[in-house]
Amino acid sequence: MKYVVTKEFRFEAAHRLLKHYSGKCTNNHGHSWLVRLHLEGENLDEKDMLIDFQELKALKVWIDDQLDHASLLWEQDPMLDYIKSSGQRLYVTVKNPTSEHIAEVILKEAIRLFENSRIRVKCIEVNETCTTGAKIYP
Ligand SMILES: [Zn+2]
Repeated sequence: MKYVVTKEFRFEAAHRLLKHYSGKCTNNHGHSWLVRLHLEGENLDEKDMLIDFQELKALKVWIDDQLDHASLLWEQDPMLDYIKSSGQRLYVTVKNPTSEHIAEVILKEAIRLFENSRIRVKCIEVNETCTTGAKIYP
């Protein structure tokens, strides 16, 4: 048998897409982002849990510290200099800050935080609107 547990996190952030992109998303705009973390494993602990949900707060702390109320900007975005010099919150991405890439960024952090012998990160899901989102599997 395999168990899967999920936890949702939310954050507010702005982004815009510039790299090889010419649609309306080139304008800086904000979203209420929704992140779903899915963890899986075969063995429960002595409390009959795959993982105590309390332990998942580590990812919430990272999201709040790094992404919440930040501008998520591609490393070649000319707006970087202004955001940096004005002291506003900024998270610099190596790819366009799409839902796909933000899911990838969060996946890497989740793997770092939660990977142990008993549980694995199964999937990260990131929604930037009620109707659009991306999933990434390790
Ligand atoms: Zn957007």
